[in-house]
Amino acid sequence: MIRYHAAGLVVIQGQRNMTDYLRERFEDVDLTPGQGKISATIAVGLGLLSLLGGFCFLFPNLLTTPEFRAFYSADVLRMVLFAGIAVAFCAGFISVWRHQDPRYGLAGMIMACMAALLGSGRIDVPPMDGRSLYAGLDYFILTLLVLALVFIPMERIYPKDPQQRVLRRGWITDMKYFLFSHVGLQLISFFTVIPIQVFLHDKVDIGFQQAIASQPLWLQFIEILIVVDLGSYWIHRAFHEVPWLWKFHAVHHSTQHMDWLASSRLHVVEIVANRFVGYLPIFILGFSPSAVYAYLVFISFHAIFIHANVRFRFPLLRWVIATPEFHHWHHSSEDEAVDKNYAAFLPLYDKLFGTLHMPDKLAARYGTRASTQVPEGVVQQFTFPFRRSS
Ligand SMILES: [Zn+2]
Repeated sequence: MIRYHAAGLVVIQGQRNMTDYLRERFEDVDLTPGQGKISATIAVGLGLLSLLGGFCFLFPNLLTTPEFRAFYSADVLRMVLFAGIAVAFCAGFISVWRHQDPRYGLAGMIMACMAALLGSGRIDVPPMDGRSLYAGLDYFILTLLVLALVFIPMERIYPKDPQQRVLRRGWITDMKYFLFSHVGLQLISFFTVIPIQVFLHDKVDIGFQQAIASQPLWLQFIEILIVVDLGSYWIHRAFHEVPWLWKFHAVHHSTQHMDWLASSRLHVVEIVANRFVGYLPIFILGFSPSAVYAYLVFISFHAIFIHANVRFRFPLLRWVIATPEFHHWHHSSEDEAVDKNYAAFLPLYDKLFGTLHMPDKLAARYGTRASTQVPEGVVQQFTFPFRRSS
């Protein structure tokens, strides 16, 4: 059936758009060994990452993160890039041979070759202009690589839901969120870190900040955890209990499959609100940068871990810190679990404020309840909170 739009565009009804095509073809993929599909996934995934990595070597000023570059050596990364290229190329070769459609393997091999050409170019990073615009592509590639290497095997070896696939339904949407939150790091900081620094820099007590920053690092680390967790408990609770805020946070809860990648499904308004609330006490109290970095690395990794599809239950620890069991209950759509377990790290706050839920079983179903129907896809989810509810 053909429909005529006001603008004169002709839309053929029933014709699926690109996103639907990708979703149908590459989500919920059966990766049982022996079909060449695992090698095809590795070839295309790693080939693409290597290609992006090659571009980072070519345009470091534009594509890499100044703060992040201080933590790695370009020479080591070039070796990592060539290892990635070699693995992508070999996986591509195996896939061409095993998979019924040789195009995936070929695409992986071609991307690996192009990455080798880009990556063998110059790498000297010219001095940066502190205020220039950049994309955190290096941050995206490296975190994705490390997280995939840690979590995919972990979720295969100790799965909570053994039926759930690596390329499960919704992974493409979540990968887009992951891409945005890493590549757009500068943009997100612009709305969180910079306003706080600009408006509060002359209002803080320097003497008090020096006393805080001169404490041992481990003590500052624990203090940051306790302080930031209190703020994030209440902002999280507000996102659940204030109806217009809930629509932003419902996007995060729309996933019906818990795994490491599901943690990145967050509306940008929520990302900014969370970062703001987290950074505010850190800035006012003046913790030392090393303690803050250690905290950020730890809490980011922990946030991903508690979403992972793993069955660990941690006998004593489950009452002290947030575990996958604790946070999976937060994501459960079962009646008993709704609006429970808000804490990011310390369940103590849920105990204190009466929202703890830790029964003797594991959560079974995830997602929002029928009263909140979140659409699929990044763009639809972005506009969802701004739409009038029908
Ligand atoms: Zn929540």
